[in-house]
Amino acid sequence: MSVIDELLDLQEQDSVIKSLEKQVHDIPKRRKLEQEKLDDYRRELEQARETLEKAQKVEASSRMDAEAQEAQIAKYEKQRQEVKTNNEYAALGRQIESCRRVKAEYEERAERARAHIADVQESIAMFEARLAEESASVEAYADELRAQLVEAQEKLLAAQEVRDGKAKALQTPEKRRFLDYYDRLRKKYFPVVFRVREGNGCPGCHMVLPASKMQQAQRNAKLADTPDKMDIVACDYCGRLIFK
Ligand SMILES: [Zn+2]
Repeated sequence: MSVIDELLDLQEQDSVIKSLEKQVHDIPKRRKLEQEKLDDYRRELEQARETLEKAQKVEASSRMDAEAQEAQIAKYEKQRQEVKTNNEYAALGRQIESCRRVKAEYEERAERARAHIADVQESIAMFEARLAEESASVEAYADELRAQLVEAQEKLLAAQEVRDGKAKALQTPEKRRFLDYYDRLRKKYFPVVFRVREGNGCPGCHMVLPASKMQQAQRNAKLADTPDKMDIVACDYCGRLIFK
């Protein structure tokens, strides 16, 4: 294999590694997103439970208030039977009327709270069912992601080992400078090595390269099996390695 092919081969291996590294990096993020979705559902359920509690308190206190008014009415009615004058009788009658109005308001409020409670209970049942369903599916997906992560990690280790072998082949005195150049640049750009079959544009940055550059690349191609005689031919703009 010529040094050009070896570099391209190494670069292909690095691209495999990059995609595996991306998977290893992204899978836990996907898992976290799924968990967050569940947290949203839990929050919604929690809020509905709080609303229910408040409505139940309103219902209970309104009912007690209505009962208190009822007791008051009974007291006034008892007093009315014992009064001596018509005026006193009429005054108690007005008190009783007023208590009845207030009592009716409390009863109405209790009734509204009961209707609200029924609605909220329905929502809670729906939220609980949804959470249970989503939890089960998130759980299953999390298992799947865990398996995917383990697989990607194993593949990554194997790919790195293969890469070491390929890089080793380039660690000879005559090839080493190509490997070093490639390793330096790949941290900044990827891919780094290009074989330009047609035209004279850099495939990396798309700048037009001078004809002399392409001639150098042409000359390199003929010397591909004698790397010690080859030059490092790189794009003047981005530095990517250009081969013919
Ligand atoms: Zn370029």
